[in-house]
Amino acid sequence: MENLEIPALIPLTDEGEQDCACGRESASASLFPSKESNQFSLLMPLNQSSGLYRKDLGHGWFLFHNPSKFSPPSILNSSACTLVDAFQSPISPERAIQMTGLPLEASASFLKEAVQAGLLVPADGSSELEEPPNPYALTLWLALTFNCNLSCRYCYVPSMPLSMTEGEGKRAVDWAIAKLKEQGLKALKIKYAGGEPLLCFDLLKAIHEYAQRKAWEEDLELREVVLTNGTLLEHETLAFLRGEGIAVMLSIDGLGSEQGLLRPLAGGGDSLPLVLRAIELAQSEGSKFFLSATVTSLNLEGLPKLADLAMDLGWPLSLNFYRPNGGGVALLPNPGQLIEVFREIGELVKERLGQGKGPAPNLDLIHPASPSPYPCQGGISFFAFGPGGAFAPCPMLLGKSSASFKPSPVDEDPHCWACSWRYLCGGGCPLLRDHHYCQAYRELIPLWLELKAQAQRVMITLARRLPRALHAFA
Ligand code: SF4
Ligand code: SF4
Repeated sequence: MENLEIPALIPLTDEGEQDCACGRESASASLFPSKESNQFSLLMPLNQSSGLYRKDLGHGWFLFHNPSKFSPPSILNSSACTLVDAFQSPISPERAIQMTGLPLEASASFLKEAVQAGLLVPADGSSELEEPPNPYALTLWLALTFNCNLSCRYCYVPSMPLSMTEGEGKRAVDWAIAKLKEQGLKALKIKYAGGEPLLCFDLLKAIHEYAQRKAWEEDLELREVVLTNGTLLEHETLAFLRGEGIAVMLSIDGLGSEQGLLRPLAGGGDSLPLVLRAIELAQSEGSKFFLSATVTSLNLEGLPKLADLAMDLGWPLSLNFYRPNGGGVALLPNPGQLIEVFREIGELVKERLGQGKGPAPNLDLIHPASPSPYPCQGGISFFAFGPGGAFAPCPMLLGKSSASFKPSPVDEDPHCWACSWRYLCGGGCPLLRDHHYCQAYRELIPLWLELKAQAQRVMITLARRLPRALHAFA
C-alpha cells in the first residue's frame, strides 16, 4: 500500500482524440478550474452520497463515481477511502479526521475536494443545485472535400465531386469565431475532414494559416486535427503537420481482410498496405497518430488485434460504434457479440497496462472525464461545414435535411433517466433512435471506467517511483 498518510483524490482525465467525439470532449470538466464549494466547514456534518459507485482497483486505490453529478469519476488512495468510509452516517469532518488519525490539514483539503466531486454531501440535504459544465471550445468540422480515394462501406458523405473553396473555408472559420465569442468560449478546435482532406492539402494549409492568424488576433486557443484514411501521407505532409502542431487521426478498421472489405480503394483493392505504410512512416519519424476504428459487424473479431497494436505503439485508439447513416443496418454489430469482443479487449488492455503499455482505447462516445446531459455537442458547440456552403449540426447530416435534429438532455428520456451511466453516455447518438447500443453501454461503461482508472493509477505509481529511482541513481 502506498502513501497511507496523505489522502489523495485524483479526477479521471480523458486521453486521446476522437473523430466522432462530436465535440463532447470540449465539455470536459477537467478543463475548468474546479468550482470552490462554499458548502464545507470542519463542523458541518456530511454524509456519503447515496448511489455512490465504488470499485476496488487493487494496490490500495479505489474508483468512485456519483452518477447524479457532472464531476468526473475520482481515484482515491486507501487513506482517502478510509475517510470517505467514516461518513456512512452523518458526522462532522473534524470528528471523522480525529477518528481516522489522519493528518488534519491534508484530510480537510481532501474532504473539501470530496464534497466538490459529489462523494460527500451535507447531511442536512442542502446540496447546491449543479449546472452542467459549459463547453470549453467550439469544434468546427470542416469537410474540405466530398471526394475520396477510398470507397468505404459505411461512408455517409454525399457522393458529389465537390470541394470547398478557400473563401468557404475562411468564412466557416469566421462564423465559428463569432459563434464562440457569442457563447463566451475560449478555444477553437478544427477537425479537417472529408472525404479525404489530404486530397486538398493546399486548401488545408491555407485555412490553417488563416485560422492561426485569426486565433492570434482574437486571443483564442487553437487546436487542429486532420482526419485521414492515411493512404496519401508522405514525409512532407507529416513534417508540415508535425511542425504546425496539427494532430493526425488515422482511420483503420483492422489488420486483416476486414480493412479491405470495409475500406476498399475507390478503384477496387485493399487499402491495408498503404495504411500500414503510413503507420511505419509515422513511427520512423517519431510522429504519433490517433487511431480511429468504426466498429461494425464485419470487423468486430479483429478489434483485439488492433487494440494490441495501438497499445504497442502507445497511440490512442477510438472504437466508434457504427451508426447506419450510409451503410445500412447489416453492418450494425449484434450487441451481445459486441459486448463479448469488448470484454476480450478489456482483458487484453488490463494485461498490457500491467506491462506498462497504454493508453487504453476509447469506448465510442464515452468520455469518462466529461459527464454531460447531452450525448454530443452537435448543434450546441459542434458544427459541420462542407463544400458549396453545406452546413449541419453533425457531420453525418451534411448535405441532408437536418431541421429536426436536436440532441435533448438525457434526463428527458424516460428510457435513461434512472440509469447510473446517463451523464457518461448521454443516451447515445441521437441519430440512432432505438438505443441500439444501450445494453453495450450499460455493460461496458463500468468496465471502461475501471480500465481508464487503472491506466491512470499505473501512471501515478510510475510518476512517484521516478524521483525515488533518480535519487537512488544519483
Ligand atoms: S442509452 Fe442506456 S446506458 Fe445510455 S444513458 Fe440510456 S439507459 Fe443508460
Ligand atoms: S448526432 Fe451522433 S454522429 Fe452526430 S454529432 Fe451527435 S453523436 Fe455524433
